[in-house]
Amino acid sequence: MSRLTAELDDRLEQRAGQGLRRQRRVVDSPQGARLRVDGREVLHFGSNDYLGLAGDKRLVAAAQAGAARYGVGAGASHLISGHFAPHDAIERELAAWVAPCANARALLFSTGYMANLAIVTSLVGRGDAVFADKLNHACLNDAALLSRADFVRYAHGDLGALEKRLDSSRAPRKLIATDAVFSMDGDIAGLGRLLELAGKYDAWLVVDDAHGFGVLGDPIEQERANSGRGTLAQLGLVSDRIVYMATLGKAAGVAGAFVAAHASVIETLTQTARSYIFTTAAPPMLSCALTASLALIRAEPERRRHLFALIDRWRDLAAALPWPTLASATAIQPLILGPNADAVRVSDALWTRGIWVPAIRPPTVPQGSARLRITFSAAHSFDDVDLLAEALADAAR
Ligand SMILES: *Cc1c(COP(=O)(O)O)cnc(C)c1O
Repeated sequence: MSRLTAELDDRLEQRAGQGLRRQRRVVDSPQGARLRVDGREVLHFGSNDYLGLAGDKRLVAAAQAGAARYGVGAGASHLISGHFAPHDAIERELAAWVAPCANARALLFSTGYMANLAIVTSLVGRGDAVFADKLNHACLNDAALLSRADFVRYAHGDLGALEKRLDSSRAPRKLIATDAVFSMDGDIAGLGRLLELAGKYDAWLVVDDAHGFGVLGDPIEQERANSGRGTLAQLGLVSDRIVYMATLGKAAGVAGAFVAAHASVIETLTQTARSYIFTTAAPPMLSCALTASLALIRAEPERRRHLFALIDRWRDLAAALPWPTLASATAIQPLILGPNADAVRVSDALWTRGIWVPAIRPPTVPQGSARLRITFSAAHSFDDVDLLAEALADAAR
């Protein structure tokens, strides 16, 4: 064995010794409340398929029809010859629906990771400044580093600290980046106040709504057409300094992401963003599936209603468990175990009982806050939630 591979093995062993070794389990069924994994059926609380759409037969049919019409590969990047009619249609639909400002347009990306890289690197550069919540998703941080702007992180939700940093910054261009729903905690950012600060200090506000799009939105009782429109809609925020990003592989059940913003922002991304220009367009069949998905999100608000009823039930039951929950009103409901080994032990105990809840450890979450990141989906039943709570009560004994 060469010295190069031996050194890698040493480092891997060190990580394993810290309880950080990660393992992939092999799924052999559609995503859903019940999965076939490693040859057995398990009840599952670990996906971001919040509305239970990833395995929906109607989306499958739309993808099949799209493949029959357009084939399976786009064959080129959007700016060369890979921009297909279904891509164009879904961009128009998303821009009109989410409408983060007047005169909004939208741009599709193959992944949320690439969308965030595009936004930050196109809007700021060397000498500018990015202000970021400490619990933002890793790809927003990577985007800030790649932009070469100064990278200023503030303690989670501490908008007083953020204002001090904004006030003392001499950067010609400023950008505030935040998750709308924090991916490992489930809490919702103070977007109203963030938008005020962005206005006061003339900054962009980049909102990553990976976990709000499809789930949050205008009150369910209101117009059906607005069900699931995302966190901006829920908070009633509109501004041409907002750059809105949402992923399409979570609640929307398919893949990819989009940015919706003022037409000038979108045109800038189209012309300059390297993670847009230098990559093959996603298969058009996925946009066909997404068109079907958006129609279902709007036509079936009962999915959201059921999801929030499950969350209420869970919060009642979780109060009796020995581990703390976090103040989350979303589908992400972490139980904080603390030490890595504890999180792994409880996750393993659930696995033995046929329940899959992944343990989340550093560096995905801060040291000492390893957790079970429990996520609920409209595909779960009340009985499923009860089973989870019973299994956890057993594991606590
Ligand atoms: C999942 C996620 C992303 C990345 O999106 P992908 O489409 O999976 O690349 C970005 N931001 C947040 C907050 C996420 O949770």
